[in-house]
Amino acid sequence: MNELKSMLAYTNIDVEALVNDYTKTLQKNNNREATERGTIVALKEWARQKDYLIRQVMQMPGYNGNLQAVMPITIPNERTVNDVDKTVYNNIWLNLFSSGSKILSKKNAEGKTLSDMILSEAEDMPEFVDVLSIASHSGKKAKSFSEFADNGITYESIKKRDEAQSLINVFRGIVSSRLDSIQAAEINAINKNIRAAEGMKTTRALGKVIKYYGLEDKTPGSVYGKEFIANYCELMKDGGRTLLFVISVNPIDYLKMSIGEFTSCHDIRGGGWRSGTISYMLDQTTMITYTILPGSSTEINRVTVSGKDRPELFSKIYRNVFHWDCNHRLIQSRVYPQGNEGATDLYKVLRHAVQSSISLANGWDPENWTNRKRKFIDFTTSGEGSTNYPDWSYEHFSGNLSTPGHATDAYSTEQFVIGAAPTCIVCGERHSSSRNLKCNWC
Ligand SMILES: [Zn+2]
Repeated sequence: MNELKSMLAYTNIDVEALVNDYTKTLQKNNNREATERGTIVALKEWARQKDYLIRQVMQMPGYNGNLQAVMPITIPNERTVNDVDKTVYNNIWLNLFSSGSKILSKKNAEGKTLSDMILSEAEDMPEFVDVLSIASHSGKKAKSFSEFADNGITYESIKKRDEAQSLINVFRGIVSSRLDSIQAAEINAINKNIRAAEGMKTTRALGKVIKYYGLEDKTPGSVYGKEFIANYCELMKDGGRTLLFVISVNPIDYLKMSIGEFTSCHDIRGGGWRSGTISYMLDQTTMITYTILPGSSTEINRVTVSGKDRPELFSKIYRNVFHWDCNHRLIQSRVYPQGNEGATDLYKVLRHAVQSSISLANGWDPENWTNRKRKFIDFTTSGEGSTNYPDWSYEHFSGNLSTPGHATDAYSTEQFVIGAAPTCIVCGERHSSSRNLKCNWC
């Protein structure tokens, strides 16, 4: 205990309380055999490995004295590809467009129908002659047949309907509130009159599609009067809810990283990768970040404890593991709960909060970061004996590597090690089981 206390003296935290909390957190969460001995071994190794990250977090704005930086954050409205797809298809395509049938027309540009055309073409014919059969047998197409399908609908309007359907299909997959350059190009390739542009609000672009096909709500004073458009705008609108965001190297947060309004395989109560929590705690690079409700508070021994001071006591809404090293490389792993893979806005907001906190801790410009996408795959490896799930290498999510500075600045491609062999919660020896928090001998 004394050695641990002197190792952590610079943090001013209550080391005895931390040892006690750590052991109790394990015991209360289905690991009753946890011992103080196992805790002290783990915490000494954590203090050694995390020295750099602990000092970084202590320099961040919002540092709460408990190895956590806490700040308000606005989380964009949650929406999944599924929500958007349902709203655009069911509400807008099926209802507003009536599956495209509202675009189909039986009148050509001159306002004439197939039978108008047949009648006028028949005027020059002798009585009792069937124009339809003459046209189809003579090999010479009457004007009526180049403009109308057999069912009397103009080819022009069928083409328009197909075009509208292709456009709607594009919007079914757009989750972001504003278009990126690829989405804008895709829309313009189908119909250049829409004039979609990068950065345009997604709802505005769809509004232009609706207007182009003559389906806008013409009620005076109403822009999006129709209920289904209103639903879409509600779903896609900017803004969101404000939560407290926590950047932590506190050991309790590693243990509880998957206890919140979701669970994952890193749940110490029974997850298949439960010892991965300690694996992350004992490496040099992993920080746990998460959000909790603002204004949270609870009573401990008749003392009110706020979410800002002790966020680890409150239920996590989102959790995102980040990896930051002394070579100044930041890797963003996957956001939990899962199902947010398409929510690039959410990934971006969490990443920006971490980037700006790191910058302010080091006296750098918080806005000046460069996104290197998935380049980290080239040099990131799992630590020897680590038992954490290699979430950062999961292909279908928006995690990435970013570095402080400009795109032209060089960055290190030295090995980036994530995870370490976990220690047994009973005896403190290293072990290799991902499903257990203790070794085979205990
Ligand atoms: Zn053991």
